[in-house]
Amino acid sequence: MKQIDLKTIRMLASSEAYENAEKFLRSQKANIVKAKDERIEATMEILDEKFPVVIQKNEERNFDTSCKCDEKQHPLCLHKTILFVQLLNAFGPNYFDSIRNWDKEKNKLLAAYGYSMDEPDWDQKFEFTYKEGKPFLRVLDQSVKRVTAPVREVEVIKPTSSTNVEEPQPKTLYSGGNRLGVVFVEQKKSFPGFTIEVVTGEANEPGNGMLGKVEKLELQKYIVTEGLSERDVSALQILRKLHVTEIGKYVNRNSPFAGIWENIISHDEEGLPADTESLIIEYLYPKLRKLFAEHQEDTLFFLLPAGKPFNTRNLVPIQVSDAGLTPSIHVSQKKTASK
Ligand SMILES: [Zn+2]
Repeated sequence: MKQIDLKTIRMLASSEAYENAEKFLRSQKANIVKAKDERIEATMEILDEKFPVVIQKNEERNFDTSCKCDEKQHPLCLHKTILFVQLLNAFGPNYFDSIRNWDKEKNKLLAAYGYSMDEPDWDQKFEFTYKEGKPFLRVLDQSVKRVTAPVREVEVIKPTSSTNVEEPQPKTLYSGGNRLGVVFVEQKKSFPGFTIEVVTGEANEPGNGMLGKVEKLELQKYIVTEGLSERDVSALQILRKLHVTEIGKYVNRNSPFAGIWENIISHDEEGLPADTESLIIEYLYPKLRKLFAEHQEDTLFFLLPAGKPFNTRNLVPIQVSDAGLTPSIHVSQKKTASK
């Protein structure tokens, strides 16, 4: 069990032990000696004998328990049962999460704003809420801003800057057949301004668009490549890595907020921390470049403008270019408050 659960306790203890535990708790209590870092140490006196009991969460988030008595038949002896039931009644099933030490994770989240829990006023400016046992940072003082990254800024890759939206030139490379299409779905609010989806459909005669309806592929699932050209299958290999969940995995592995970067509740306008954005670019850029360089001639590219429903009618054909992006540096003067 991961949370304190009465049904499980009753299953793990003998019925006699459970009944005696309830009886004991009607008039007495275990004495909690220590409750910290997901570990409870308690003692209880039964028939003039003292029993020290420990319950703690282990690495797998299950409970480890210990007691000196000689209960062998059931995982929970009378004493452990007493302690579990007492904690459940007093604090509820999630009690151990509430005494978990989240300081390290909390400080990481606060560091994005240049704060730590050592600052005397941190709790006036921030608050932690818990969802599924994990801490989430909420910024109370809207004047507190994220620590901005050093002045170096990498140009944001957007479909509008890395691709030329032009009237497609007629091509004679293909004459119909099932084709793959790459769709840049414009996202106004989230970095890097687009997500990538893949569609298949029947190509038109000049090979520069789709005939009729296209079908969206689930990049995370197994895709039947039968009927697709070899070129399209090779493009698909790159495209799988461009899916938003793959980007998330990469950021999760490499971010200083590993595992918790999505826990920062951002101000709407502010977006992701700069280093997270850099990680996304670091991941996406070479793959996009490879895709554009190798497949600009033989794969169809589309843009789905922000807010438009995903259907064939709304896909705007675009051309991509493998010309590199020009890095740019933005230097701006910081406004200083004058009094
Ligand atoms: Zn015991």
